[in-house]
Amino acid sequence: MAKQRGKSQYAFFESSMKMNLIRSMTLENSLRSAIKNEEFYLHYQPQIDVRTGLIRGFEALIRWEHPQLGKISPLEFIHIAESTGLIVPIGAWVMETACKKMVDLNRVTGSNMIISVNISPVQISNEQFPAMVEETLKRSGLSPNLLELEITENLFINSFEVAIKIFDRLKAIGIKMSLDDFGTGYSSLAYLKNLPIDTLKIDQAFTRDLLIHKSNEHLMESIILMAHTLEMDVIVEGVEELEQFDRLKTYQCDHVQGYYFSRPMDTNQLEDYFIKMK
Ligand code: C2E
Ligand code: MG
Ligand code: MG
Ligand code: MG
Repeated sequence: MAKQRGKSQYAFFESSMKMNLIRSMTLENSLRSAIKNEEFYLHYQPQIDVRTGLIRGFEALIRWEHPQLGKISPLEFIHIAESTGLIVPIGAWVMETACKKMVDLNRVTGSNMIISVNISPVQISNEQFPAMVEETLKRSGLSPNLLELEITENLFINSFEVAIKIFDRLKAIGIKMSLDDFGTGYSSLAYLKNLPIDTLKIDQAFTRDLLIHKSNEHLMESIILMAHTLEMDVIVEGVEELEQFDRLKTYQCDHVQGYYFSRPMDTNQLEDYFIKMK
């Protein structure tokens, strides 16, 4: 009996593994033509300046509508794009689209909002990356100081020296660098102290736990203080409740981002959002 169940469980695992494999192979294949077929689009989520209540900028978040499988989360397809190298053209498409959108938005609203673009370690390690950034800025007409690149600590796993070189080349262009998902990775003070990082994005896991236990409050307050000591701006991610926002204000947090203010929006929703604000 036990033996039989063991066998059928094995068969089940085997078939679900097979299904996963088939799905990722299907996605990999479809990814190759997804740009050409215009299956990608961007969502934009506002980042709010805590002191003024104004919009500091937007984070661009990629979306994929697969013709048969429907919406695929970036959490599922980005790593496939990374392992195949497809992230290079996909990432270039994201940056171009996001920069152009920001130029439009700033013109229409008469403002100087920042666009934050997520960058994969695979992309940034590509020799051509800084040149691609410069060309994109030129083509879109976006001023370099309005472009912010969000990178994660994974970039530093391989070589800190290489990371410093890349950072220096990018900073020379005049753009901003931001460390995303802070607190989930290898967070080392050495990275923070020795890299020209402008903005620290505190991961939403810290926000989720903020009001649950006193020690989380101290932790959040300490991270913000540390960032300010290192002359970095702080964005806290994943703010979903007024109470979290109120608490963050008392910690001198600079910017907030989260569902409490707005979900990521498509371009139509973005238009409505600005009309409502007027
Ligand atoms: P991320 O860069 O840390 O982006 C924040 C994620 O949190 C987004 O998920 C956003 O929709 C979600 N979020 C925002 N506010 C809240 C909130 O209040 N509560 C909760 N629970 N979630 C919130 P999304 O859009 O599914 O993206 C997931 C991840 O995929 C991103 O994490 C980023 O690592 C990656 N990603 C997205 N777009 C791109 C891209 O264009 N290029 C690259 N390389 N990665 C991307
Ligand atoms: Mg991000
Ligand atoms: Mg993040
Ligand atoms: Mg993330």
